[in-house]
Amino acid sequence: MRIGVLRIQGAFAEHEAMLRGIGVEVVPVRLPEHLEGLAGLVLPGGESTAMRKLIERWGLRGPILDLAHAGAPVLGTCAGMILLATDIAGGDEPVFPLLDVTVKRNAFGRQLDSFEADLDVPVLGDTPVHAVFIRAPVVERTGDEVDVLARLEDGSVVAVRQRNVIATAFHPELSGEVRFHRLLTTMAAAYEEPAEGSGRRPHPTRRAHEAPR
Ligand code: GLN
Repeated sequence: MRIGVLRIQGAFAEHEAMLRGIGVEVVPVRLPEHLEGLAGLVLPGGESTAMRKLIERWGLRGPILDLAHAGAPVLGTCAGMILLATDIAGGDEPVFPLLDVTVKRNAFGRQLDSFEADLDVPVLGDTPVHAVFIRAPVVERTGDEVDVLARLEDGSVVAVRQRNVIATAFHPELSGEVRFHRLLTTMAAAYEEPAEGSGRRPHPTRRAHEAPR
C-alpha cells in the first residue's frame, strides 16, 4: 500500500518515519504526478500560510481534492487540519474544503504556545492519546456530518472525522502515537479494495439522481 505525505513544508519527516514503521510504502508528494495511485494522504503540520502558497504554486490543489473526492483517506495534523477546513476564522480562504468545521489558528495564545495533554479518543481504544500541541488550531464549529474524536478537558474540540477525512489539532507523530496512522491505513485498505456491498461503484448515485427525460 502506498500512502503519500505532502512534503513541501513543515513536519513531514516524522509522519514518513511513522508510516514506514507500520510497513507502509511512503510517497513524498511535491508535484501532482506523485499523487497517482496513492491509497491515502497525510497533510503534516507546519505553517499553513506557507503551505497554501506552495500548494497553489505546484498545482496540487485540484489533484489533492480529486483524490479525496474519490474517497482516498486523508489525515491532516495541525496546519494540515487548517488546510482541510471549510471555514478558517478570520476569513482566510479555504484550501481543501473537505471538513465542515470552523478552525481558529493559533488558538491557545502566547502562554500556551505549545503544551501536551492526554486525551480520550474512544475510536482508538482505551489507552489515552498523548497529544503534543504546537501553536495549534482549535475547532470552533462542527457541521452535522462531522464526528468529534477528541476534546480537551475544557471541551475544546481537537480531533474530528468526516467520512474519509481525519484531522487533529495536535501532532500524533511527535509523541510516537501511531494509532491515527493505523486508522488511516485501515481506511486506505478499504479504499483500495472495497468490500462487496460497500456501495463504491462507478457513480451509482449520480445516475439515480439524474432527472428523467
Ligand atoms: N500555527 C500554524 C498555522 O497556523 C500551525 C502550527 C503547526 O502546524 N504546528 O498554520
